[in-house]
Amino acid sequence: MHVRVNAAMSVDGKLSTRERTQVEISGPEDFERVDALRAEHDAVMVGIGTILADDPSLTVKDTGRRAERQERGEPPNPARVVVDSSLRTSVDARVMDDAATTYLLASESAAPAAVGEMEAAGATVLQHGDDRVDLTASLNALQDQGIDRLLVEGGGEVVFSLFAGNLVDRLSVFIGSKIIGGRTAPTLADGDGFREDDIRSLELESVERLDDGLVLTYVC
Ligand code: NAP
Repeated sequence: MHVRVNAAMSVDGKLSTRERTQVEISGPEDFERVDALRAEHDAVMVGIGTILADDPSLTVKDTGRRAERQERGEPPNPARVVVDSSLRTSVDARVMDDAATTYLLASESAAPAAVGEMEAAGATVLQHGDDRVDLTASLNALQDQGIDRLLVEGGGEVVFSLFAGNLVDRLSVFIGSKIIGGRTAPTLADGDGFREDDIRSLELESVERLDDGLVLTYVC
C-alpha cells in the first residue's frame, strides 16, 4: 500500500485553532490540488478528532474528476476511512452518507452494540488493537479490501502515529501565510512526539508556490 499524508498548516505549524475550529489556511488553487489528489486515491482517511471537529465529507468535488474515476472502472468517490477506537462517529456524520464506501477502524474493545449500529448504518467496521487502533494491522486489512493508495488528511494525532509506525511513503503539506498560535492548537504531528534518537528525517522532493503559500512534498 502507498500512504500519502496531505494537510494544510499555518506558517507556525498549526492545523487549526486552540478551540479546534476549522481555519481557511489555503485557497482555491490548493483546494483543486487536494481534490485532484483525492481523485487519485482508493481511500481518504482521517481520525475521529477531525470528524468531530470538522464533519468532512471527504468526497471528490469536481464532477469531471468523478466521471474520470468511473471511466477507469472505479467508484465516483474514494472510500472514506475513520480511525475511531470506540466508534464515536455519529450515524449522522457526513462520512456516513451513501456517497462512498465507509470503513471505520476500531479497536477490539469497541462495544458490540456500537459495531452493530455502525454496520446497520452501512459502514464496514475493522477491529484491530486492544484499546487503541493498531494502524499497521488496520492498513493491512484495508489492503485486503483492495485499497492500494491511501490518502491521509489528518489530524495531528493520527499523522504522528503513522510516522511513528513508519507507515508513510509521502508527505505533502501546504504552508499558508497565517499565524494561528496557541500551545494546545493541533499541529501537523502531535502524539507523544519523538525522542531525539527517533526523529524522522524526510527527503524534500518538490516545492511549489500556490495561492499565498507553498506546497512542500517529501519522500518519507
Ligand atoms: P485526529 O488525528 O483526527 O484523531 C485523533 C483520534 O484518533 C485520537 O484522539 C483517537 O481517538 C483516535 N485514534 C485511534 N487510534 C489512534 C492511533 N493509533 N493513533 C492516533 N489516533 C488514534 O485528531 P486531532 O489530532 O485532534 O486533529 C483534529 C484537528 O485537526 C481538528 O481541529 C481539525 O480541524 C484539524 N485538522 C486540520 C487539517 C488541515 O489540513 N489543516 C486536517 C485534518 C484535521 P479514540 O481513542 O477515541 O479513537
